[in-house]
Amino acid sequence: MQELHDAPLAPLTTFRLGGPATRLVTATTDAEVVETVQRADAEGTPLLLIGGGSNLVIGDKGFEGTALRIATTGFALDGTALELAAGEVWTEAVARSTAAGLAGIECLAGIPGSAGATPIQNVGAYGQEVSSVLTEVLAYDRREHRTVTLSGAECAFSYRHSRFKAEPDRHVVLRVRFALADEGGLSAPIRYAETARALGVAAGERAPLEQVRETVLRLRAGKGMVLDPDDHDTWSAGSFFTNPILDEAGFAAFRRRVADRLGADTEPPAYPAGEGRTKTSAAWLIDKAGFTKGYGSGPARISGKHTLALTNRGAATTEDLLALAREVVTGVREAFGITLVNEPVTVGVEL
Ligand SMILES: Cc1cc2nc3c(=O)[nH]c(=O)nc-3n(C[C@H](O)[C@H](O)[C@H](O)COP(=O)(O)OP(=O)(O)OC[C@H]3O[C@@H](n4cnc5c(N)ncnc54)[C@H](O)[C@@H]3O)c2cc1C
Repeated sequence: MQELHDAPLAPLTTFRLGGPATRLVTATTDAEVVETVQRADAEGTPLLLIGGGSNLVIGDKGFEGTALRIATTGFALDGTALELAAGEVWTEAVARSTAAGLAGIECLAGIPGSAGATPIQNVGAYGQEVSSVLTEVLAYDRREHRTVTLSGAECAFSYRHSRFKAEPDRHVVLRVRFALADEGGLSAPIRYAETARALGVAAGERAPLEQVRETVLRLRAGKGMVLDPDDHDTWSAGSFFTNPILDEAGFAAFRRRVADRLGADTEPPAYPAGEGRTKTSAAWLIDKAGFTKGYGSGPARISGKHTLALTNRGAATTEDLLALAREVVTGVREAFGITLVNEPVTVGVEL
């Protein structure tokens, strides 16, 4: 277990932003994770859990308390059951399970960060979400002071949300378990139109697993959604805003705003999101409000490859990033009456 004091957190985040932590502990076993959490809780000092730092916006002042970097390892396949230690690198776990011929997470290739963080916001991309294959989460419960096993249902997953987000300071994920499927080398049915097109299959059909993983990686790379230290378009947290979900009245009002602003024949993107609810596209809203790819002249700008990613061009501060985020939120609200919500977790700052 490594312990540093007044340690910079920026290098631990994909934004490369954020001031120092009073104490930075790196834990490589579950026991070290639990010990560090118990110590911080006993002292009454704030605790910040860090996996790959790919969904974190840490304030320039840093974090007064214990930052715990979870660097545990463990990849265990038993038939089609996969157990990952929280610190396992997600992209590598996807590559290994795909190479083992197992389907269920191949479309989640290229998502940065740790396995332990995947249940937090129910990571998803290209038609898959971890919630559809996750069976159990082994976690340390800071309220009950013991290790607990939560079923998928107990994790209360929804779009980019879970019980862990609803109760942010309660559970420390130690291990995540998945039920993958052996489809004879084929993927799960391809649900996302863009992926199906790129693979040359109809939506709902399967394709060879490795081809699906590579296709997703290629599509993602074209949008700056695969980490590349030399490409500032990837110095981000991926999507900075979630896609808004509107009720019937909200969607009708939104359509009227779109017609007023862009013409009566412009239909906004609309996807069913449960009874009476419609999901629209945050990227579309941002673009149509005038924040196009590459927008900005300062050290924080919209990615040149994707309107939904806010990026650090190298010399940004967290305040620069937040100023840009607020400008986008205000612009979209003024244009369409919708208030975008940030997807990454903010630490010591707010939008
Ligand atoms: C280029 C890029 C592309 C992305 N694409 C996608 C995408 O397609 N889909 C998607 O869903 N996300 C995407 N993301 C966001 C991000 O990769 C995911 O949310 C990822 O799961 C975060 O993992 P992490 O280990 O980096 O978490 P961190 O950023 O380290 O932490 C995120 C949150 O989880 C908490 N946390 C971390 N580990 C644990 C643990 N073991 N127990 C309890 N809490 C914990 C942290 O305290 C924090 O609140 C992208 C990010 C980037 C930079």
